[in-house]
Amino acid sequence: MENMGAFQFRGVQLDLARQMETLDFIYEFIDFIGKSGYNTLVLYLEGRIKTKSFPYPVAGEYYTPEEMKAVVSYASKKNIDVIPVVSVLGHAELFLKHKEMKHLAEIRGDAKSTLEETINHVFCPSLPETFDFIKNYLSEIAAIFPSKYFHVGCDEVWDFGCCSICRDRIHNGESHGDIFAKYITDMHGFIKNELGKDMIVWDDLFECYPNALAKIPNDVILCCWNYDRRVDLPKAHFKSRLEEDLLAKYEKLGFKYIFAPSTFLVANIESFTTYSSKYSPLGGLLTVWEKSLNFMYEVMPLVHYAGRLWSGKDINFNDAIKDVFGCGDNIFFDALRSNYEIKATHPTRLSPLSYLAGPITEFEAIIKSSSETNSDIFSLFLERCINDNARNMLEDILVSLEWKKIMFKLRTVVEELYSFDEKCPDIARRKYITSEMAEMIDRYLKKKLDQWKRFRKGISSAGIEKTFTEFRNKVLELAETSAKAAGVLKVKFFLPDMYNAQKCKFTIVFEDGSTEIAAEGIFKNYEMNDAYFIYKFPYYTTRQPVSVRIESWLYGGLGIAYLEIISRKSCFYPVSICNVKGNVQSIQHILVNDLRFCYLGETDMNALLQMPELTKRKHGLTLVLGERQEE
Ligand SMILES: [Zn+2]
Repeated sequence: MENMGAFQFRGVQLDLARQMETLDFIYEFIDFIGKSGYNTLVLYLEGRIKTKSFPYPVAGEYYTPEEMKAVVSYASKKNIDVIPVVSVLGHAELFLKHKEMKHLAEIRGDAKSTLEETINHVFCPSLPETFDFIKNYLSEIAAIFPSKYFHVGCDEVWDFGCCSICRDRIHNGESHGDIFAKYITDMHGFIKNELGKDMIVWDDLFECYPNALAKIPNDVILCCWNYDRRVDLPKAHFKSRLEEDLLAKYEKLGFKYIFAPSTFLVANIESFTTYSSKYSPLGGLLTVWEKSLNFMYEVMPLVHYAGRLWSGKDINFNDAIKDVFGCGDNIFFDALRSNYEIKATHPTRLSPLSYLAGPITEFEAIIKSSSETNSDIFSLFLERCINDNARNMLEDILVSLEWKKIMFKLRTVVEELYSFDEKCPDIARRKYITSEMAEMIDRYLKKKLDQWKRFRKGISSAGIEKTFTEFRNKVLELAETSAKAAGVLKVKFFLPDMYNAQKCKFTIVFEDGSTEIAAEGIFKNYEMNDAYFIYKFPYYTTRQPVSVRIESWLYGGLGIAYLEIISRKSCFYPVSICNVKGNVQSIQHILVNDLRFCYLGETDMNALLQMPELTKRKHGLTLVLGERQEE
């Protein structure tokens, strides 16, 4: 990357809401980022600090104001400003999980979640009581953090406008965007006038409600997040995004803004930095999220790289990596870079049946071989690291690669369990391959817990133990349940917007009129890299299937290219279509096993956001099946 001078604001975020870190680690992290050129630490907190106005968190799930004051004071000695993030609209789960707070939730009384969510995570923006609570709590938090900035979150809020008060406002002519703009404006007034600070918000809701941007004061600082490899291509945060020069728009409207890549991909950091350098942002904020099943160490080399990049140092990736590890050659640098070129498959892929997805794709095969090679290279360098910290990072990367190995193994094992051809395993083999997998998961958990003891001493590891133990047990159970399966429904999906939330349900109808729901939920490509992907759903009724009913609803729409049923005895494929309901396009494509697809649902996400009642509309069709004749 070419030298573009230092940004004024150079921040990195720690997500302490989803996973607490020890105070010792936070101090160590401050030392680390100070040396990397950062001048700002952003603490993503939600309700992690227990105060007089929010006394409900129990032991082990909060920091005290005194602890946070000590962090602020330590950081200030290293010239690092600490900014708190308390999300004041959505992502309020840490507040709203307490029964004493539930009266402030948007989903209360007769209100129904638009997204069919089962947990409460949005404050009602129309209740004066919400504002009273936020004012009290933010005043207490602001007293801990002397920074001139306060970040109020407000990303990913789609579940408002549901309660009776909000509904009345909409009935009387306000739009969702108006309600959002009014809330932001009121919050800004409080933060500016009463707390004397500049307010920062995430910018993604303005993509959903573009008119709201002109209605809020333009001294709100917009935090523009985008985690794509190429930030200049249209993808989406939630709705289908326009290809838009966002930062040019913000400048034109007179806003100050910060660009925010994440540690998921090195290319995201680089392309976002290059794009932003054409404009005049306050600076960059590197967001790190969700480390409840992982540790910070694996991404710290990237944290260092971004910090050096934004400090105006004439630096490339290899130099930054050499700084961190004190060793390395081109093979090592290239391996580390390729490790950060692949977005980590979401670590919560903890349902064994999610590994049932047809043949290994080319993309998976590439990740598999690069993971194996990288693992070997990193192992060689483990002993050459300059200090314990660097060794922790490399070791943490190696443990993450271990998890990838488990996932690849599961892809073949679960496929074998649900194969009904000559590969179909007997019960002894089923028990053998599942217990072998369980042992792999046990060994992995043991490594994680060993790391946990060293990195998160004093913080409960019950969550990670529960998660992996449950996963392991589910894998073991597959030996029995897979043997009972009558067949699988194989669906070839086509999903152009991978950020949408379209639900679908597949019901198989049998010759005697009985039915079985083979699948219901939101299905996406786990690799997030291709619109076309396959799922297989086991079913257990042993009668002959005669048709499949597909229903689809919620946010976005969904393409289905083809489906078929593979049973122990035979194969069934669609021969005709009936009972078409709602918005279904290119219906005939579903009868042909090729890449063309039938589309169920709304095509206009803007319309859905303005009229959420449309999300309840069901789109569906029934496929009559024929039996494939063996040749
Ligand atoms: Zn409301």
